[in-house]
Amino acid sequence: MSVFERLESNVRSYCRTWPAVFDCAQGARLTDENGRSYLDFFAGAGSLNYGHNNPVLKRALIEYIERDGITHGLDMATTAKRAFLETFEDVVLRPRDLPYKVMFPGPTGTNAVEAALKLARKVKGRECVVSFTNSFHGMSLGALAVTGNAFKRAGAGIPLVHGAPMPFDHYFDDTIPDFLWFERLLEDRGSGLDVPAAVIVETVQGEGGVNVARAEWLRALRDLCRRYDILLIVDDIQMGCGRTGGFFSFEAAGIVPDIVTVSKSISGYGLPMSLCLFRTGLDIWQPGEHNGTFRGNNPAFVTATAALSAYWTDDRMEKQTRTHGERVEEFLTGLDETAAGNAKARGRGLVWGLEFADDTRAAKVCSRAFALGLLLETSGTRSEVVKLLPPLTISPDELGEGLDILGRAVDET
Ligand code: PLP
Repeated sequence: MSVFERLESNVRSYCRTWPAVFDCAQGARLTDENGRSYLDFFAGAGSLNYGHNNPVLKRALIEYIERDGITHGLDMATTAKRAFLETFEDVVLRPRDLPYKVMFPGPTGTNAVEAALKLARKVKGRECVVSFTNSFHGMSLGALAVTGNAFKRAGAGIPLVHGAPMPFDHYFDDTIPDFLWFERLLEDRGSGLDVPAAVIVETVQGEGGVNVARAEWLRALRDLCRRYDILLIVDDIQMGCGRTGGFFSFEAAGIVPDIVTVSKSISGYGLPMSLCLFRTGLDIWQPGEHNGTFRGNNPAFVTATAALSAYWTDDRMEKQTRTHGERVEEFLTGLDETAAGNAKARGRGLVWGLEFADDTRAAKVCSRAFALGLLLETSGTRSEVVKLLPPLTISPDELGEGLDILGRAVDET
């Protein structure tokens, strides 16, 4: 019995999808301890948009470590943090005219979501936060309370409070992005639904099945929030940092959320880091009122600064993501209908999902793809979708190679 089985908790999961012991990785490829190579269409759950051990980021990190740069957390002022903040302001915020203060809530995405929920509730003095069917916002009690996944919620053992669910876009039909029914509930004092402090939404539900919200639906949601004085939180943890094309996924809809959560690929090197961005007027916490030890991952600031400088000072990333995404879309929609069992493809930028009518098929496809040398994972509350999330920097040849393997895996399952 391996030490993983003997010692590690039963809760581990990715090691079951990909039964190998991985050793090293470069770009869009990983190698296991036996020297077998795998193409990566998962990118660390979206935390490696620039690929594994990206050489530009690696160089910056090595230089920083070799000169004994500060490595610990806390929120002291450091040169690494200053460089990140200045670059973030110059490259991301100012060109988009975004009016945000930046808070470092802790290492993971869940930390950013907790901070966003806590802040919204304090600002508005209200309890409830509305979230959407099939949403995923993290595993802590607060983030789970706004997560629309019964299996994950069951992990908490007992009911979670202070959240209210709302249907995600396309739930009723494809034509009416309005929230009239929700307004009626809010105005009917007998409904028991109080005006929420905030609404939290993903523009594309990454864990929930690659469900893409339409721009007009997002704008209608923003208008609803304005009418009822509700804060709009966009969780851009998986879809931000270029995954859907623009740096932020909400840019394309022309909305400016009150609060934005960012994590995963912000450090670019797979180092834990998260941001909670909020409108200046929401900066109400007193010093120390919300803190934690690992809020200042200085090596992550270094790689994040290098990533922003290398990839976001022009529109190359956006263009390449569009080109790659069009190729994936063409491939998925061109899959043989009989072999693919009329699977439905959907996505934006370089995040795509292939939903199978038979719920067990997606897992079989991922398992076959692994045997053929491609890492793919399922998504959706019933794991009914195969999710494609390659590094944005993947080469056209590797993208083609991965798609060929996926095609074979579909044919052979
Ligand atoms: N929010 C979204 C949209 C996510 O996709 C995730 C993780 O997949 C999280 C929050 C939680 O982030 P973390 O797992 O880093 O805590």
